[in-house]
Amino acid sequence: MPTMIEIKDLHKSYQMGSNSLHVLKGINFKAEAGELVAIMGSSGSGKSTLLNILGMLDEANSGDYILDGVPIKNLNETKAAQYRNKFLGFVFQSFNLINYKTALENVALPLYYQKVGRKEREAKAMRYLEQVGLREWANHLPSELSGGQKQRVAIARAMASEPKVLLADEPTGALDSTTSYEVMELIQQINDQGNTILVVTHEEDIAHMCKRIIHLRDGVIVEDKKIKQKRASEYVQ
Ligand code: ADP
Ligand code: MG
Repeated sequence: MPTMIEIKDLHKSYQMGSNSLHVLKGINFKAEAGELVAIMGSSGSGKSTLLNILGMLDEANSGDYILDGVPIKNLNETKAAQYRNKFLGFVFQSFNLINYKTALENVALPLYYQKVGRKEREAKAMRYLEQVGLREWANHLPSELSGGQKQRVAIARAMASEPKVLLADEPTGALDSTTSYEVMELIQQINDQGNTILVVTHEEDIAHMCKRIIHLRDGVIVEDKKIKQKRASEYVQ
C-alpha cells in the first residue's frame, strides 16, 4: 500500500509568555493508505496537538509532514485551507454541528465552500446521510437528534468531501458504550472501503476496534503495534 502520512522528527512547543511547553518531542510515524490507527495516551500527552498538526489546524515547530506525497510546509492560509478541505475530514468529540441547520444542510455545507452547485451538493449530502443510516432524519435539526445520530451526521459531513484521511479526536468521548460501538462500526465500514482513518481515544475497547495502536506518553511514541481488529458489530445488538 502507498504511504498516506509520513511525519519525521516532529516537534511542537506552546509559548506562554516567557514559558515554553514542549508537547511533541520528536514524533516519527508512517501510515499507509487504508490503515485504521488508534492514538492513545493519557490526558495531556499531546494526542490532540498531534492530530491538529496532521489536520493542518496547527503547525509544528520543526520536522516534516508529507501527506499523500505532498509536503505540508510553509503554506499560506489560503493554500492550507484549500488542502484541508480537499485532503482531510474531521470529527470531534463535541460533534461541532451548526445548530440552526438541518442534518442535510450540515453535511452539504463544506461542499458549498468547495463551490459545488446546490443540486449536486444536496444529492451528495443525502447520499452520505443515507450511508450513515440517517436518510429519514435529513430535515431534522441537531437538537432533535441523539448524540450517536449527531456524530453520524458529523461523519457524513466529513466524508462528503471525499477526504484522503479522516481524523477523529475522541469521536466516542461524549457517548455511552453502546452508541460508541455503533459509531465505531460506522468508522470500520468507512475504513473497509479503503479510507485511511486516525482515531484519538483513551478507551481500550475503542482502540481495539482499530488495526494498529500508537501510545503517546509525554510527547513521544512509546509503543506502536499492529493488532487483530475487534469488529464493533459483535458488540452492537
Ligand atoms: P491530549 O489531547 O493528549 O489530552 P493535548 O495535545 O490537548 O493533549 O495537550 C498537550 C499539552 O499541551 C497539555 O499540557 C495542554 O495543556 C497543552 N496545550 C494544548 N493546547 C495548548 C495551547 N493552545 N496553548 C498552550 N498549551 C496547550
Ligand atoms: Mg485531546
